[in-house]
Amino acid sequence: MEIPKKMQAAQLVARGQIELREVDVPVPGPDEVLIRVEACGICGTDVEIRDHGMPGEPPMPFTMGHEYAGVVVQVGSTVDEFKVGDRVTSEVHKGCGRCHNCIMGEYTACLNFGNREKGHSASGMTVDGGFAEYALKHVNTLYKIPDEISFEEAAIITTAGSAFYAIDAMGGYLAGDTVAVIGPGPIGLALAQAAKALGADRVILTGTRKGRLEMGKKMGADYTVNIRDGEDPVQVVKELTNGVGADVVFDAAGVSNSLEDALNIVRPGGAIVLVAFYKGPVTVNISKAVVRNVNLYTVRGEGRRNVRRSLSMAAQRKIDLRPLITHEFPLKDINQAFDTFTKRLDNAMKVIVHPQQ
Ligand SMILES: [Zn+2]
Ligand SMILES: [Zn+2]
Repeated sequence: MEIPKKMQAAQLVARGQIELREVDVPVPGPDEVLIRVEACGICGTDVEIRDHGMPGEPPMPFTMGHEYAGVVVQVGSTVDEFKVGDRVTSEVHKGCGRCHNCIMGEYTACLNFGNREKGHSASGMTVDGGFAEYALKHVNTLYKIPDEISFEEAAIITTAGSAFYAIDAMGGYLAGDTVAVIGPGPIGLALAQAAKALGADRVILTGTRKGRLEMGKKMGADYTVNIRDGEDPVQVVKELTNGVGADVVFDAAGVSNSLEDALNIVRPGGAIVLVAFYKGPVTVNISKAVVRNVNLYTVRGEGRRNVRRSLSMAAQRKIDLRPLITHEFPLKDINQAFDTFTKRLDNAMKVIVHPQQ
């Protein structure tokens, strides 16, 4: 395959400012592959990185983008797991492989986060990412894409990966459970779908945006609660469960009201999983968890190779992320793509950028 020396990349050049630049096409190290990027999704974390930065961030300019899929065009000297021409998707985090957490499989919480010398990398966060024609990935972070799945759906598979990781982290096994999901953003919707696919008896989705709640119904939610319309999630869940509460509550909204709701919705002894990055400090009555023996879990990203499970579930069509993709743009329109995403123009949900267009 012909690989050019130069490529276009959307780089963060100053805080809040992304520009298209011509840069060198990178060369894979021994354990890396070079990917021709076909689709790269925009995620809330990208906006956070653009506007506020992230720990471990490389000096600007650098290439953002952490949700991407493409075709292998070159492999490093030790790579036999993938070959040129393979369709692949990636997860964000490559743990160092040598710290306690990595050895225990918790590589999204690597103790050497951002330390490239020790082998950690997070694409588009601590090293160059996928808003470019080509991108490097370590083999640890790659998965072959099943034939049934498009590059676009594969690019956002980490959304499902985060949902399955949240379920995995709290002990799995949703069969027969009543599950509440707070916040119908991409991860909340993926959670509703994943919980249903794993046999949850009832999934209750709460939020404030009618369009997103309607999408939730299409993606597996049995009940939706629109807080803006004056509906009360606590009352709805209590009515559905004879006053007991939900077995599991996922907070995918990340505000103090959402955590307070979670504490009021969950049954004694149930589980609350925090999957959102909270916008700032939150104030809640945490005693409601302690005195009722409620278990609290947190997850970061799509760890424990839950992307593999997500790809399998998508290939079996037990989950389907395609409804989340609302907008697509060529790389040159990167800033329009970001605007569409951040301002939720035209009900934007997941926005995909196409570096080859
Ligand atoms: Zn993301
Ligand atoms: Zn590590």
